[in-house]
Amino acid sequence: MNQTIEADVVVVGGGPAGINAAIAAGRQGVRTVLIERHGFVGGMSTAASVYPWMTFHTEQGEQVIQGIAQEIVDRLMQAGGSPGHLRDTVGFVHTVTPYHADIFKVLVLDMLKEAGVQLLVHSFVDRVIAEDGRIRAVEITGKSGRIAIRGSVFVDTSGDADLAYLSGAPVFKGRDGDHRTQPMTMKFRMRGVDLGRVRRYMIENPDNFYRKTPIAELDKIPLTGVQGFYSQWKEANLPINRDQVLFFTGPADDEVLVNCTRVQGLDATNVLDLTQAEEEGRRQVLMMAEFMQKKLPGFERASISSVGTQIGVRESRRIDGLYHLTIEDVVEGRKFDDVIARSGYPVDIHDPTGKGVKAAWIGGDGAYDIPYRCLVAKEIDNLLAAGRCISTTHEALATTRLTPSCMATGQAAGTAAALAHKRSVRAADVDVAELQAELLKENACLR
Ligand SMILES: Cc1cc2nc3c(=O)[nH]c(=O)nc-3n(C[C@H](O)[C@H](O)[C@H](O)COP(=O)(O)OP(=O)(O)OC[C@H]3O[C@@H](n4cnc5c(N)ncnc54)[C@H](O)[C@@H]3O)c2cc1C
Repeated sequence: MNQTIEADVVVVGGGPAGINAAIAAGRQGVRTVLIERHGFVGGMSTAASVYPWMTFHTEQGEQVIQGIAQEIVDRLMQAGGSPGHLRDTVGFVHTVTPYHADIFKVLVLDMLKEAGVQLLVHSFVDRVIAEDGRIRAVEITGKSGRIAIRGSVFVDTSGDADLAYLSGAPVFKGRDGDHRTQPMTMKFRMRGVDLGRVRRYMIENPDNFYRKTPIAELDKIPLTGVQGFYSQWKEANLPINRDQVLFFTGPADDEVLVNCTRVQGLDATNVLDLTQAEEEGRRQVLMMAEFMQKKLPGFERASISSVGTQIGVRESRRIDGLYHLTIEDVVEGRKFDDVIARSGYPVDIHDPTGKGVKAAWIGGDGAYDIPYRCLVAKEIDNLLAAGRCISTTHEALATTRLTPSCMATGQAAGTAAALAHKRSVRAADVDVAELQAELLKENACLR
């Protein structure tokens, strides 16, 4: 071992969940280390060009995600890096939140520093030292060789539950039965798009777009997203297994982020599969961009301006926690005594094998609770998870995986990890009332 770093809370994975977890733990005054394999933070939001964030609101328009996630949006707005929450012109959710990925990357570095967090980038966790049901240290490989980071409580925000898996804690992958996961997508941006022309075409051809598109409002609100172009897509008959075109606008006024490629049947925790997925995704990007330039009104002068650094992974491993959030919990808008976060994003399953997306809407007041038990891993006493790899079923993951929810579970996991350290208790024994009080102090939304 070349070096050892001592910490109280160790957060593995610097995506939306990990950033929020590390800031929350740091603000509790404990020594916090955040470890990220890329050279920058942001996870899917930066490395895979996922955009925009959706959603902080219920379908009825109530904001149910606040806390550090909202602070990030506020600070982005101050820095000219986001217009804030805007109506979703796809019509799938109430609001979407556009943001400038490169401003986001730097702004959260300020927030991590202010919280006293030690950040390690270019650091891949590939070994976990666990004994007697506790993690003692994680090990990273980097340019300076092997480094061990010892800690008292660990938070898995790797998206892929790497920490849980490497520690020997039980994990799940994909749907029950065949373990297939939602497809991967290589996202890309185009500039030079005439969005005024796109908008006019939509108003003149409403039947060619998603049935919930607010066509009547399109000339009054900013165009944020477009789903449809069904006739052009059908006619093109490209070898991409989906049934419509989907893109979001911004941050520049001639720019879109295209969410259309689809790589199915591959496992994002298998390097051979990932290699194939990266190639297939990039080939689909070129095919898709050519189709858009030739066939979609408004794209005649557009060209690719960037492609994701890595393919976007919607689903891989998740922890087996003390509770598995289910689709019934979501669609009934269920409430839990140990709520640590809420979400108003519907279930949105991109078919692991078919063309479509299966959606299910949230009943009740339009939001469901995420219980603390979904963050607590079985069998390892000092391990919590947040973000995409919390304990849910495959179906419920199709809502908890959205970025604002990942930020909210991140804040909860980081706060809980700090409390577990300060009170010298197992993650499972954190006083939930105290955790909720701490989250409320940091403006989280629990009711
Ligand atoms: C194609 C696609 C479209 C999506 N669309 C939207 C959308 O429109 N709006 C929205 O809000 N959300 C969307 N999402 C969901 C959202 O982007 C992710 O679910 C969310 O980013 C998950 O956050 P996370 O922090 O849990 O994990 P991630 O964002 O995956 O971050 C995990 C981080 O951990 C790091 N890491 C992983 N393993 C290790 C390791 N062993 N050692 C060190 N570091 C490690 C990674 O590099 C990464 O930075 C989409 C996702 C995809 C893939």
